[in-house]
Amino acid sequence: MAFKDVLGHSKPITLLQRAIKNEKVINSYLFLGNEGIGKKHVALQFAKALNCLETEAEGGDACDHCTSCKKIDHALHPDVLLIEPDGQTIKVDQVRQLQKELAYQPYEGKLRVCILTAADRMAPHIPNTLLKTLEEPPLHTVIILLANNSKFVLPTILSRCQPVRFNPLPIPLVSNWLMQGKGLHETEAHLLASLSEGSPGKALEIQEEIRQVPREELLKDWVGLKSLSFERIGSWVESLPSQRENLLLILEVGKTLLRDLIMVKTLEKEPKLIHSDLLPVMESMAANWSLSSLLKRMEILHQTALAIKANANTSLALEAMMLSWAEG
Ligand SMILES: [Zn+2]
Repeated sequence: MAFKDVLGHSKPITLLQRAIKNEKVINSYLFLGNEGIGKKHVALQFAKALNCLETEAEGGDACDHCTSCKKIDHALHPDVLLIEPDGQTIKVDQVRQLQKELAYQPYEGKLRVCILTAADRMAPHIPNTLLKTLEEPPLHTVIILLANNSKFVLPTILSRCQPVRFNPLPIPLVSNWLMQGKGLHETEAHLLASLSEGSPGKALEIQEEIRQVPREELLKDWVGLKSLSFERIGSWVESLPSQRENLLLILEVGKTLLRDLIMVKTLEKEPKLIHSDLLPVMESMAANWSLSSLLKRMEILHQTALAIKANANTSLALEAMMLSWAEG
């Protein structure tokens, strides 16, 4: 794997490669972008390109087969340090240990590359400790901080790093990658890509979670169910997971089920469904519905998911949604 093999992100990669070619690599970068989008992956390819022993690297990319490239691939290169949260956050001891190591010259690499993930999730006091290193960067060292959200990175740290932004990947690109790179079936790949917010890592995470979601049950007992009594609404809301993240996943799956139901209702020929395995159930259901009612249901579900994402009280939001649904 090298820059040329990375999925998407041509803009940040071009910026980094140009810095290598023009010998303008600076000491501190801050990679910004959603969780699972590929920041760490690109940072490792950058470390490889910076330390590659082959002349090909003059083009700003790693050869992917020299000793240095192989060592970095196997996390065995002594000058490429990857620091990840110990538990929920980066701990102060981890940063102190890093600073000790940075006091020495690189062992064998051209440049020492230190990748510090979760720069927006650091224990208190760390930003100040780290700041000293960023203010007086050790020789032959490149520090790459990774963060999902710049709002949670201290301005003093932000101002000492060059920001490199990673935008969400186009959904079809994620979908293709899931099919070709991970061997997923088209239906599953489309579903995961549509829930991934353009982040391949998140798509894989959701794949695990979604396997636990009973889709047919959701379709029959919730999304496609016409008559909703108060008792039913109460017991349904109670049955949902209390954790916001898990609940949002159910709502997202609900949206894709409803989307498919709308497709079945509107298209005469075989529609391209995300849940194509549920087509027979959807066909019998769609006959009972008017298109306008389904579209209204979708809009309410969408608004409810947005409200829950924005920290609305989940039980109240869900009850309000179900009552609006019951009104037709
Ligand atoms: Zn190489």
